[in-house]
Amino acid sequence: MPKPPSYPSKVFLNGEILNAADAKISVFDRGFIFGDGIYEVMARIGGQFFYREAHLSRLRTCLDKIDISCNVDTLESEIPRLLELSGLETADCLLYIQVTRGVAPRQHSYPRDIQPTVMMYAWAKTLPDINETPASVVVQKDYRWSRCDIKMTSLLGNVMANEFAMAHDCYETLFERDGILTEASHSNVFFVKNRIVYTHPANCYILDGITRQVVLELCEKLGIEVRLEGLPVQDIPNMDEAFLTGTSTQILAIRKIDDHVISGGRVGPITRKLQEAFLDLKNTGA
Ligand code: PMP
Repeated sequence: MPKPPSYPSKVFLNGEILNAADAKISVFDRGFIFGDGIYEVMARIGGQFFYREAHLSRLRTCLDKIDISCNVDTLESEIPRLLELSGLETADCLLYIQVTRGVAPRQHSYPRDIQPTVMMYAWAKTLPDINETPASVVVQKDYRWSRCDIKMTSLLGNVMANEFAMAHDCYETLFERDGILTEASHSNVFFVKNRIVYTHPANCYILDGITRQVVLELCEKLGIEVRLEGLPVQDIPNMDEAFLTGTSTQILAIRKIDDHVISGGRVGPITRKLQEAFLDLKNTGA
């Protein structure tokens, strides 16, 4: 069982770095009332944030998509001080960034002149070199909305789906929309058949994961053929391999989808090759 997460010691909130217990926001914050905000998570490995620019660029794009104006460069410049005060100058860690629209009297439409609420914190986390133990997953209908490309803080659909996975002793829930597998509650999903890698195209039904993008780059580098196609649910039993990707999930082989055992319950050869190439990338610093 993974260790339950603990609170960070320090929180960056609207320009200040505070003890976590002193970091307070208004009950009228639209992030609290509506889930009206964007978040991002980056992993620091060997002293560098892995694919930092890709994460920050997705943060900018998502803020633009929901019309929140926030200077991500200014926010980025505060990260070293936050890490230092959190006692994480040299540690491997995860950084959570959240920007909400800010505080306003409750109504759906928002005023244009409010300051966004900006919050960040980091906590020590060493990710395994390679995830050796394949995971079991379940499939559920995707009951979320149709803008899954926005990395928003309103994650109730994802929370419910992940809880469904936990209730079935599984790591993840794969979402199915109109018979097609899209992504999972907090990761993207890939399949392998006859040495061809399949994953859903980056449209409004998935979050275009940074790890997903890295894996697609690795496939190209390794000469592995890729098809950007969502897999029909009925094809699950015919798959040679399947794996999940995400910032903290990294590349995680799937051993079972509902009742179907995949790749004999072991990490398949293409998954392994990608895991090793991913490890090389982490070791050389991306
Ligand atoms: N899909 C969803 C729904 C997610 O929440 C995440 C991030 N946890 C991902 C995919 C993977 O994205 P990334 O590789 O950027 O962490």
